Amino acid sequence: MTTTPAVFLDRDGTLVEPRHYPTRPEDLILYPTIAPHLQQLRQDGFRLVVITNQSGIARGLFSEDDLTRMHDDLRLRLRRLGVEIDGFFHCPHHPEGVIPELAIACYCRKPEPGLLLAAATALDLDLTRSWFIGDILNDVEAGNRTGCRTVLVDLGTESPPESPSRTPHYVARDTEHALRIVRAVERRGPAVDTSYLPSSWLPNQTAGERLVGRSA
Ligand SMILES: [Mg+2]
Ligand SMILES: [Zn+2]
Repeated sequence: MTTTPAVFLDRDGTLVEPRHYPTRPEDLILYPTIAPHLQQLRQDGFRLVVITNQSGIARGLFSEDDLTRMHDDLRLRLRRLGVEIDGFFHCPHHPEGVIPELAIACYCRKPEPGLLLAAATALDLDLTRSWFIGDILNDVEAGNRTGCRTVLVDLGTESPPESPSRTPHYVARDTEHALRIVRAVERRGPAVDTSYLPSSWLPNQTAGERLVGRSA
């Protein structure tokens, strides 16, 4: 029986700062305050798994070897901060890619669930006890489709979800807040505000009215 839960993390915009097609290790800038929370979750029994779309490979912008170098470096930097990553899983495909064998509509590019299912098989994970944290609704959909609980990190890019499959269980101000939410819901950390929503998702209000509503 599989009993190991995971916290799945999107890479770009979630684990590291958003950048346009990073290609070198130094392009991946870790968010500075998240390591202690990741370390705590792993100590509490969660595997930490990075799930990332890397269509830059299909587009010919960088190679599998470049990606391996980036992820080896990121793994080492996190290890020095006390955080062990259990796996990196990436999708190299894109239908509009320039490398013919990668220019396909695959089953692993999020919102498709393939990477999560592959990770669950490889690492013997219980998806229904797992979490997916990502900064776009395609992350949320991949998590929801595989039975994970989902947290959207609000980078201000996402419109309100138009279907239940794309609706996150929680929305966080940033990745640290997302990790705090997971720890609180799992009763592994202090209580935290879980009512946050992106301002563009709130009903038509002026900013002032919104603030009044918040303080009530
Ligand atoms: Mg992202
Ligand atoms: Zn793929």
